[in-house]
Amino acid sequence: MLRRFREWRRKRLIERYSFADQDWTAALAPYRFFDRLSADENRRLRELVSLFCAEKEFAPGNDFTITLATQLQIAAQACLPILNLDLTFYSGWTGIVVYEGEVWVRREEMDEDGVMHVYNDIISGEAMPGGPVVLSWDDVTQAGSAASPSYNVVIHEFAHKIDMLKGDATGVPPFSPAYHAALNGREFEATLHQCFDAFAAQVDQWERRGQAEADAPLIDPYAAEHPSEFFAVLSEAFFTRPQDLRDTFPDMYRLLAAYYLQEPLRPGD
Ligand SMILES: [Zn+2]
Repeated sequence: MLRRFREWRRKRLIERYSFADQDWTAALAPYRFFDRLSADENRRLRELVSLFCAEKEFAPGNDFTITLATQLQIAAQACLPILNLDLTFYSGWTGIVVYEGEVWVRREEMDEDGVMHVYNDIISGEAMPGGPVVLSWDDVTQAGSAASPSYNVVIHEFAHKIDMLKGDATGVPPFSPAYHAALNGREFEATLHQCFDAFAAQVDQWERRGQAEADAPLIDPYAAEHPSEFFAVLSEAFFTRPQDLRDTFPDMYRLLAAYYLQEPLRPGD
């Protein structure tokens, strides 16, 4: 009975938050990584986007105007990582605040001597445990550009959201018995830390050599900031530049495939 009710409610929400074919096609068009989806995956992603829009609240930052295109482009990218999981991975919060350009945030930090430092920080996006996801629309649209093929602020922030389901972001996302019975959580954690340490050392050496563009790591050096950033940046790469991720960290590619239950690289790639 409950299952039938849930199914009925799900169908109603999908109908209520449905959108035209051309709007859906236009939302996916700037992002080449959607091309690999099969017709069935595309249809399921579209349904998930309707459910996502029913559940979440988009709000403008400053005087930005949120259109259907804004919502669909963000929702489609946000839902890609959970295409074979479900919306409970984004539970416990509802807001998505979208600014037109750079987002200025006020930070307060206490140093070791107990002195409070207040400063302004410019960010492209942010996710806080239990709070909203904040995004800069300029940065969202850059994700599709040729200049930054592996940069994806939406997937980055939503990977943090998955990580934060269990509290503060650590880089080790929660494992669900329904989806991750075959995944060894300890192996995931150990491999993530091992690869993170190796990458941090690599970035450190690259910085000492003067950060030459020609020998820059394939993975965004920002991943070396913290294991949680490593998980978020590797998740971006997994969906947008899977080849680069597999070439750099084959074990992390395999573990993320087991986590997200997706295989962005086809056999022979
Ligand atoms: Zn981050």
